[in-house]
Amino acid sequence: MSKEILEQFAAVARQIEEQLKFYREIGVVDIGGAARSRKKTAVADSAIEQARDVLPPPAPLTKTAPPPAETSSQKEYAMPGKKEQVEQVGLFGDVAPSTAEGVTLPALQSQDASLEAIREDVGECTRCKLHERRTNIVFGEGNPQARIVFVGEGPGADEDLTGRPFVGRAGQLLDKIIAAIGLRREDVYIANIVMCRPPGNRAPERDEVATCEPFLFRKLALIRPQVIVALGSPAFQCLLKTRETITRSRGEWREWNGIKVMPTFHPAYLLRVPAKKREAWEDMKKVRDYLNSLPD
Ligand code: SF4
Repeated sequence: MSKEILEQFAAVARQIEEQLKFYREIGVVDIGGAARSRKKTAVADSAIEQARDVLPPPAPLTKTAPPPAETSSQKEYAMPGKKEQVEQVGLFGDVAPSTAEGVTLPALQSQDASLEAIREDVGECTRCKLHERRTNIVFGEGNPQARIVFVGEGPGADEDLTGRPFVGRAGQLLDKIIAAIGLRREDVYIANIVMCRPPGNRAPERDEVATCEPFLFRKLALIRPQVIVALGSPAFQCLLKTRETITRSRGEWREWNGIKVMPTFHPAYLLRVPAKKREAWEDMKKVRDYLNSLPD
């Protein structure tokens, strides 16, 4: 066997090993029925099949001190003090009542011909102060006909440098989460509520979100996914115009303009509090099962 083929085998083995490690971390035992994608993923299917055979039963849950509440997608970088502020007042503070109180959500009527047209409209945007220190606008990427859109908070350092969403450690975890429901990164669409990196990875401020979110809503209106996964409190609060936190709301289906919304923890939070991966996996199983319940 040639050296090249051996290296390819080794790379595939490493990939499977890493995926299996992720499944073990989240205590996966029910991995049947991966979400049907428009284009099936051979690598993900292979990993899932192998995981099904070798995974041990989930470890019994032990009582531990409760982890900190998830408040910001960038908690792993967030500055002390800011998080508490976000948790208490929410991204929209006093200005946005809960959806239960009757707030009107943005209308889902696309006027845009394509994502490229929206990108063109964004241009070299200077509409809010976040433009001052950004390197690249992180517009979002993925399948324009995606059945599922993941929405995060804003770009971090890696994203700012590359101009691509979720490419750092949190992005690698998101890739694994996507693979765990039987999809590939290129099957889904990934975006953030603000497209420029907030300095010091602070949470985006209200005026910044208000200025940038119309672009997100235009993308969602154009893509019209079957499911939106809101990653972390800021994304959830932005979409639903609520003050509820992800800690209280995760795992419960919501709706945005007729599209199902699943709030769950941001991958950056899961990196900081790995014990929460199990809950995130429960949320993602609901997403997978819902997608599987829909006709192709
Ligand atoms: S965050 Fe959005 S609105 Fe603000 S400068 Fe960047 S692209 Fe423009």
